[in-house]
Amino acid sequence: MFQELLNKIIQASNIALFPHKNPDGDALGSTFAFKEILESLGKRAFVVFEDDEMSPILNSVVGSENNIPCDDYDLFVAIDSANTDRISKKSDLFFSKGVESTIVIDHHFHSNTKFGGLNFVKDAPACGEVMYNIAQEWGVSITPSMATNMYLAIVFDTINFSISNVTPSTLIAGAELLKLGADMDKVQLQFKLKSPSQIRLRNVLFENSTIKDGLAHTYCTLNELDISGATAGDCEGLVNEFAYIQGIKVAMLFRKLHDGEFKVSLRSNSDKFDVNAFAAIFGGGGHVRAAGCTILDVDFFETMAKFVDGARVWLDNDGDLSKVNGL
Ligand code: 5GP
Ligand code: MN
Repeated sequence: MFQELLNKIIQASNIALFPHKNPDGDALGSTFAFKEILESLGKRAFVVFEDDEMSPILNSVVGSENNIPCDDYDLFVAIDSANTDRISKKSDLFFSKGVESTIVIDHHFHSNTKFGGLNFVKDAPACGEVMYNIAQEWGVSITPSMATNMYLAIVFDTINFSISNVTPSTLIAGAELLKLGADMDKVQLQFKLKSPSQIRLRNVLFENSTIKDGLAHTYCTLNELDISGATAGDCEGLVNEFAYIQGIKVAMLFRKLHDGEFKVSLRSNSDKFDVNAFAAIFGGGGHVRAAGCTILDVDFFETMAKFVDGARVWLDNDGDLSKVNGL
């Protein structure tokens, strides 16, 4: 599998890399690490995204400051996306030379739809760990900047190596990346720092929250985002705070992205409540304990009520999803 991936790369010259929409630390760290891996093999690699999809995390990703896309690609790689809806707004470009010229590298082992010409989908808690394995298998010498980006990717998706799908291999990867020069201080600062607008947003979310009988849910409207001075990226990670309130089994965060589009983030703190399976009923996906959905063209509050009703049925039936209806 590693060799098959390498063979496809070897045949290409100009490679376009696509992190997912509203990219998080894992998508950005993995994509920029892979860019450097490809460059070390003598390839030209470019990260493709829309400026308005960017999060503040980008500024801390090594190499992102030199990202100048070109327009003559012969291979297209989606990174950290479980399905085509997750690729950035440039998804037309992704398929512009047909599916045969596409590769998917991902860690959503249970929900990836394998939409590429070659699908390299591994079961790992972060795409950053998959990138580490690729570099190792290919005999690429991991530079401090690759190590920093991979480490950042793993830290963000595993909430600092703390979630249940972290394995001994993940911890070993973290340790090896530190040995190879990953800038832990920089990554941890980026992971832990919150902007003043994020703190204001956090207050709004706690203000808007309902915390009751094992379920926590909250929301923010576009107006509230605006008043907080927050960007969509500032919402990253805030849902986790609700999942770790005593007695809470499932937390849901609803946020408007644009008129006619909103995002749901779901977290659970036990395998009994598989939010990937719950999200799938509503057209989303992810992992057992962290999942999401993007919802289009419906009333925000009405739809939120449907999710909350569904989650209540789910909790009352102790994780049995058979009685839960979608939208
Ligand atoms: P977050 O809530 O942090 O945005 O996303 C948590 C996880 O849920 C992500 O790692 C990803 O696996 C999944 N996810 C988030 N948004 C979507 C979505 O719109 N569709 C699907 N299928 N999965 C999503
Ligand atoms: Mn990820």
